[in-house]
Amino acid sequence: MSLIKKSNANSDISRSLNWVSRAGLRPTKQRIKLAQLLIGDGENKHITAEGLFDLVKKSNMGVSLATVYNTLKAFCDVGLINEVMVDGGKSYFDTRLDDHPHFFWEDTGQISDAPSDSLEIINLPNPPSKYEITKVDVIIRVKQLK
Ligand SMILES: [Zn+2]
Repeated sequence: MSLIKKSNANSDISRSLNWVSRAGLRPTKQRIKLAQLLIGDGENKHITAEGLFDLVKKSNMGVSLATVYNTLKAFCDVGLINEVMVDGGKSYFDTRLDDHPHFFWEDTGQISDAPSDSLEIINLPNPPSKYEITKVDVIIRVKQLK
């Protein structure tokens, strides 16, 4: 049993190491640790900096909140993760990279992926002169029926 756990941990580390290095970032110990929390289990995640910092504290990694912020920014800058902004500047970091819409759950303040097969953007307004549209984020706010 302990052997199996160990080999899983090793594959998490190599996945995280590859992920960071492939993007051209120096694979520092702290970046690898944070990458493990983000993509170590191979599942896509939406997480805030504070949420990631909570995981850091739980796993006694000894990484500061400032480092969490800086590392998330560095991961965004090289396109490893996407920043999704909701509700007056609250940022979620998304490990899924293709264009997809999100549900914003007003009751809990969380976001999750929304199905994209029924979404169709037919027309967009022209951007102001001398500007181009860089990205369209679709965030669908939902709340539970009373
Ligand atoms: Zn997403």
